[in-house]
Amino acid sequence: MRLQSPKGKTWPEFYGQKSTSRIDIESSASVKSLLTSGRLLTIDLNQLLGSVISHSTDVDRYLKIDDPISSLPQQEYFDKVTEIMRKKSKTAISHLSNKDFKKTLQEAQDELRPLLRRDLKKKISANSDFIEEEISKYNLKNKTKLKIFNQSVLYYCKECSSLIEKDEFKSKNCSCGKRITKVSDTEKQTAAQVNPEVEIFFKNNMWLEYGVELLFKQKNYQTECGVYILGSSGVSHEIDIVAERESDYIRTIGECKNKEIQIDDIFKLSGKMQDTGCNYGYIFSTGVMQSDDVYRLAISRNIKIIEKVLEKTTKEMQDKID
Ligand SMILES: [Zn+2]
Repeated sequence: MRLQSPKGKTWPEFYGQKSTSRIDIESSASVKSLLTSGRLLTIDLNQLLGSVISHSTDVDRYLKIDDPISSLPQQEYFDKVTEIMRKKSKTAISHLSNKDFKKTLQEAQDELRPLLRRDLKKKISANSDFIEEEISKYNLKNKTKLKIFNQSVLYYCKECSSLIEKDEFKSKNCSCGKRITKVSDTEKQTAAQVNPEVEIFFKNNMWLEYGVELLFKQKNYQTECGVYILGSSGVSHEIDIVAERESDYIRTIGECKNKEIQIDDIFKLSGKMQDTGCNYGYIFSTGVMQSDDVYRLAISRNIKIIEKVLEKTTKEMQDKID
């Protein structure tokens, strides 16, 4: 790794390593488009990612439904089936013989299934449109070029709206009995889904780490994000941000929390600082501090706390970094 001890100083050398999964995420083009946007610590981008990822999860859930009847909540299933059965049978359902009841129930299910499949198809389309539109709106408004979703092609049976294949057409017998041999036997639809690396980047709070790393860079630090640093004890520590500035021999580490900071977080960072030879530490949090004790302890350990990260301007946060 490129971080070095300043010449003539007695601090231990940094021996650091990144996990391969971290390197994979960093090298994804989608994640790069987020990193270069310079907007990771803004509430707008945070809300955009939260909402498009949740719609993308819905698309994923809908795509995995094999039999839409068995995925219906019990009450909804009961209501829908009885409604169709009532329309179909000449007498009241309770007057049907056992045999007729079974037959009408089967017919009602057969009628319901394609209706539910069409519903699913519509839901996928609506969620997918939402994802594309929200990202496009965001890019336009903020002059950014986020490329954070993938498009896949869905092939549906024209007869019963069953999803036949995703991304690659293959001949198949549909469960409704139709033999599908040509693309023209199907109805094509596209589905936008958030890139999986972006999802990990968001859910594992990596957006916060890289957003904070940029703040250090802007203050002329040399930085690394998400590395394992070998301490003088021989123990390897996972550290969110390592930052070094040779001009005034400052070496510091920063940790990020997407929740309220606890006393234990201070002890933990303080321990890492001691073992890696860092005199200063920072904790960045999206939460609000509840206890003065956390502050007292942090001050005594040379740790600065920067809370409510998403509510502060870049300038306000930069001013808090030495
Ligand atoms: Zn079919």
